[in-house]
Amino acid sequence: MDITNTEQFKAFLDAIPSPIAMSNEDGEVTLINTAFQRVFGYELTDIPDLNQWFLKAYPDADYRAFIRQEWKNRSDESVRNHQPFRPMEIDICCKNGESKPAIVTMTALQEHGKTLSMVSFKDRSEQVHFHQRLWRQANFDGLTDLPNRQYFTERLHQEIHSSHREEKSFALMLLNIDMFKDINETHSHGVGDALLVETSSRLLATVRNSDVVGRLSGDEFVILVRDIDRDRPVQLQALAQKLSGAIEAPYFIDQANISITCSLGISIFPTDSSQADTLLSYASQALSRVKQTGRQSIHFFTQDLHDEIQRSRFLRHALQQALKDQQLDVFLQPIVRSRDETCVKAEALVRWNLPGEGFVSPVEFIPIAEDAQLINDLGHQVFIQVAQMLNWFTQNVSEEFQISINKSGAQFQTGSLPTHRLWPTALKHLRLDNRNLVIEITESILLDSDDEVDKRINSFHRSGFQFAIDDFGTGYSSFAYLAQFPAKYLKVDRQFIHQLHRDKQKQLLCEAMIAMAHKMNMEVIAEGVETKQQYQLLAGMGCDYCQGYYFARPMPFADFQVWLARHQNEKNRA
Ligand code: C2E
Ligand code: CA
Ligand code: CA
Repeated sequence: MDITNTEQFKAFLDAIPSPIAMSNEDGEVTLINTAFQRVFGYELTDIPDLNQWFLKAYPDADYRAFIRQEWKNRSDESVRNHQPFRPMEIDICCKNGESKPAIVTMTALQEHGKTLSMVSFKDRSEQVHFHQRLWRQANFDGLTDLPNRQYFTERLHQEIHSSHREEKSFALMLLNIDMFKDINETHSHGVGDALLVETSSRLLATVRNSDVVGRLSGDEFVILVRDIDRDRPVQLQALAQKLSGAIEAPYFIDQANISITCSLGISIFPTDSSQADTLLSYASQALSRVKQTGRQSIHFFTQDLHDEIQRSRFLRHALQQALKDQQLDVFLQPIVRSRDETCVKAEALVRWNLPGEGFVSPVEFIPIAEDAQLINDLGHQVFIQVAQMLNWFTQNVSEEFQISINKSGAQFQTGSLPTHRLWPTALKHLRLDNRNLVIEITESILLDSDDEVDKRINSFHRSGFQFAIDDFGTGYSSFAYLAQFPAKYLKVDRQFIHQLHRDKQKQLLCEAMIAMAHKMNMEVIAEGVETKQQYQLLAGMGCDYCQGYYFARPMPFADFQVWLARHQNEKNRA
């Protein structure tokens, strides 16, 4: 009796949870279990047809041919030992036409000298779906459904490969929403999210289908503009403008009208680089440049920009070291009272002598120090040196002698050194009066100030420190604003002093500034006085103090002492 034909055998097969199909020696399906029926949708009556078409993976051969081929590939030995076949993955065509991936394992059964096969199938559709879901989660952004950083980078690598082969060019555009943090803060995170979703669909609607839009982080999007004409950057500029136009059109979310602006940085393959990382970093450098120059604009990467960034990185490291080794010096430049040409004040100017290079201009390294959060340390080192110098001036020149120190906005902000507490203590220790120290700030500090900045400025002021408004005339030059601020000195920027004797307009402006300052109980210091003519003109206008190369350049403390003695002598002789 054929065991495989018995009811017991059928019951045994049905008890197996995975789909099973039995085949005879010719490879024809003779029996399927209930799991097979359930998973692939066939019934026992379908068995004759199964032989023809249920293996989609082998469209040219039927199942019988497939089974026979498999047997042929096996040694008799392995067949006799009931060793299962090496499992393989094939797509099974279900009765409803759907295709399901399955792992097939075949085992030989010997019956009356014939070899039957028991084929078991492991349905993998769940697993495959699960993998697909995992893959999507790992590669796409959950909020906007755009490729995330990882997947975008993968696409970028592919694009580099194919553009290289086809000698094509493409552009990488990094787009950042300006002040996105404010949207989240003024509205809600929900509104912020909705805005990002809308932004991404606007981006998709603006680019070609073949371009790739990704989201790299919070409010940073990236666009791979494929197959561009590298000789026509105008085209790219136009596209970039179209993109920012689309992003900057008003939004209406949650009953609120919202307007945003964006900044764009662009790098080009292969003109700028043929490396994915480098292209991304170059686009990001171009984007940072836009941000530094006031946002809401478009910037292409250039070699000059790159050189500048390299230089700034180099300086940042070198400056870190210089601060650690206390290698910065403070030079002093005299400030002379116009009335009697007496030197009663000096401005402290930081100097950095970089080994192998010489003096680096503070115009170059102060912004780097601010950016790298080194400005507090720098400012404090300047203060310590100035306090020592003040000690000498008050004892040897005059108790009224003042040194002014430049302070940037960052030095007043939350998280910076609490100099409004440290400095008075340090000066007291040296038995110096806070009045001997003047703090020079620019108007922009007042305009961008927040509660903490106000608090610190007021605290300095209450302790008797005096303030000077530096570079006056270069910023907003708002006297209305100044009226609310307790500055003692107004420093007229040197651009008004330059060519003063030839420029009637400048003379009028200087006169007006001096008159206004006096009305507001401020004294005026003219900066950049380089000639006798300028000095005499300014003195004639009633300008209280003059500072500039005409008297002396900034110099080390020791040289200043020598200069001061000579200056006094010359004055006495005159
Ligand atoms: P500033 O505060 O306006 O300083 C005056 C600048 O004008 C100095 O440049 C000085 O050397 C220069 N100068 C003085 N007289 C003349 C003149 O007659 N003609 C011309 N053409 N220039 C003159 P310096 O020393 O290169 O400093 C540049 C800027 O760096 C300063 O501008 C100030 O904003 C900043 N700075 C300097 N030292 C410090 C510091 O210790 N802390 C901070 N936060 N900033 C500093
Ligand atoms: Ca200054
Ligand atoms: Ca100045």
